[in-house]
Amino acid sequence: MTNILISGGSVAGATLAYWLRTYGLNPTVVERAPSLREGGYKIDIRGAALDVIDRMELKDEVRRHSTDMQIARFVDAKGKQVGTMSAQLFGGREGDDVEIMRGDLAQLLYAATKDDVEYIFDESITALRETPEGVQVTFESGHQRMFDLVVGADGLHSNVRALTFGEESQFLHHLGHYISIFTVPNHLHLDRTEMMHPAAGRSVGMYSTRQSTDAKALFLFSSPPLTYDRRDVAQQKKLLAEIFADQGWDVPRLLDAMGNAPDFYLDSISQVRMDQWSSGRVALVGDAAYGPSPASGQGTSLALVGAYVLAGSLATAGSDHAAAFAAYEREMRHFVEENQKLAASNLKGMVLKSAAQIRFQMLMLRLMPHLPGKNRMIERVTEPIRKAATAIKIKDYRAPIA
Ligand SMILES: Cc1cc2nc3c(=O)[nH]c(=O)nc-3n(C[C@H](O)[C@H](O)[C@H](O)COP(=O)(O)OP(=O)(O)OC[C@H]3O[C@@H](n4cnc5c(N)ncnc54)[C@H](O)[C@@H]3O)c2cc1C
Repeated sequence: MTNILISGGSVAGATLAYWLRTYGLNPTVVERAPSLREGGYKIDIRGAALDVIDRMELKDEVRRHSTDMQIARFVDAKGKQVGTMSAQLFGGREGDDVEIMRGDLAQLLYAATKDDVEYIFDESITALRETPEGVQVTFESGHQRMFDLVVGADGLHSNVRALTFGEESQFLHHLGHYISIFTVPNHLHLDRTEMMHPAAGRSVGMYSTRQSTDAKALFLFSSPPLTYDRRDVAQQKKLLAEIFADQGWDVPRLLDAMGNAPDFYLDSISQVRMDQWSSGRVALVGDAAYGPSPASGQGTSLALVGAYVLAGSLATAGSDHAAAFAAYEREMRHFVEENQKLAASNLKGMVLKSAAQIRFQMLMLRLMPHLPGKNRMIERVTEPIRKAATAIKIKDYRAPIA
């Protein structure tokens, strides 16, 4: 049986483990976190990724955990409402598309795999040495094990990518913006509501889903690459507080709450672009290989579809892993490119450049319900996302082994 080590137990890692297991291969997942993190932020599942979820018989469970967001309200610096939008349109969703908390999705995927797959938590790979028989893996704990193949499903700052392909700066393309998100008390008593306060070059939001008594604060800002220590959270909080120091609405309160936030996250909005997603016996999947950035809204869907296609390619190619990795790339490349393209145009609407642009956007929001061409305008938002999300038709791979 082919033994495959997967680094990362989130969306891509657990989905890959599920399908490898289904095809009779033997995955092991190593996850750096001591346990699966709950909550996180809202993510979308659309198009071909819904097919993958359906084939895993998780569609009803995923839908049961849907955030059920209702409305997005835009406010000015004084907190006055200046426009509204349905939550569906705000998230670029339509039809069957689902929004779910990332932690909930990760839990569902873990529950679907934990009984058949070995998970090793609180551990990380420190070295990979390829031999003709396989890959010798050394872990942080000092343990060593042989695997036939290794897959990096360890996210934007992938460890396996760094060990195999080198410095991440070669592959991470900064899209000119940063994102920060963290949990705050739901002091506005939001119920399935998004609040957005746009300012020139900077947007602040707050939302709460039906499962949560807490809320999330979301900060977006334009900036060239910044230099800071990615492990120094206190330094990053200070940076964010400085950038948003003079912003109105509830921003001072959100920045106050940031001090106690247990899950503070700040990162550049960057895309992973690589010419190849495998080298020898090592391959990458999900954000590690082709993270399209949070601005695309399609990272989760790419991770789900990529894991399905990679597992299917490995099952079909038997012991010829090179053929499997080549098939995976062939199958996925166009789909990835189409979805990566969404990020730049989405960003233009997420962080507006000037006060005049913000006034115009708010005016359009107020007028839209009364405009004769409103359906066409809505189409213009959702159509490119729908096209990208369905730019692959997933195959049936080998029949599952009973
Ligand atoms: C703020 C924000 C908002 C987002 N919004 C959306 C959205 O609206 N829609 C959408 O589709 N996507 C969104 N995304 C992107 C989405 O979260 C990712 O594209 C998706 O989670 C990718 O899944 P993944 O499994 O490839 O990587 P990840 O979910 O990042 O998982 C990587 C896993 O690897 C683990 N790991 C990391 N390093 C190691 C190591 N050294 N050893 C072992 N394990 C390791 C991590 O702990 C984690 O469990 C957003 C992302 C962010 C940050």
